Amino acid sequence: MDIFAHSLWTGLIFRKTKKIWWPIFFSVAPDIFSNGIYLAISVVRGVSIIDSSREHLNPVRPEIIPILYSITHSLVIFAIVFLIVWLILKKPWWALGAWGIHILIDIPGHSAKFFATPFLYPLSSLAVDSSMNWGNSYILFINYSILAILYLWIFLFKNRRKRFITYFNEKRKLIKR
Ligand SMILES: [Zn+2]
Repeated sequence: MDIFAHSLWTGLIFRKTKKIWWPIFFSVAPDIFSNGIYLAISVVRGVSIIDSSREHLNPVRPEIIPILYSITHSLVIFAIVFLIVWLILKKPWWALGAWGIHILIDIPGHSAKFFATPFLYPLSSLAVDSSMNWGNSYILFINYSILAILYLWIFLFKNRRKRFITYFNEKRKLIKR
């Protein structure tokens, strides 16, 4: 999934978290620290994204980005880091969970042709060859439509609750008089 959809889903899941920027950061980090680096180097070297896949124009050694992608998209590595942070802080850091959610969302969202998620790296190269690749315009449309509906619903629900509380407080004031 693209980083905007990832951050929007994370925003929904962690909407009650105070420091929302941490989960948002961890929701985009797996892509930023793999393909994002590749894109940045391509831009700096003036290689267009389309040309960058060609062997002689490839801005980095071809194997580096897949390795970074595997590290940032592995549930095994995520679990190890999550546990280490848990031990250091002596409590789970839930914001870091957004990284795990990113991987779980990516598993059914990538086909073998397009960065199938190596979620068991380095233990196994097993990956799901999903037929609903996120780049497909139908999937993209459905995904953003669901997000729009959920955000709208939460926004309306919040406003309705606020109105209800104001109404209730007003009534109470009237009764007190
Ligand atoms: Zn990803």
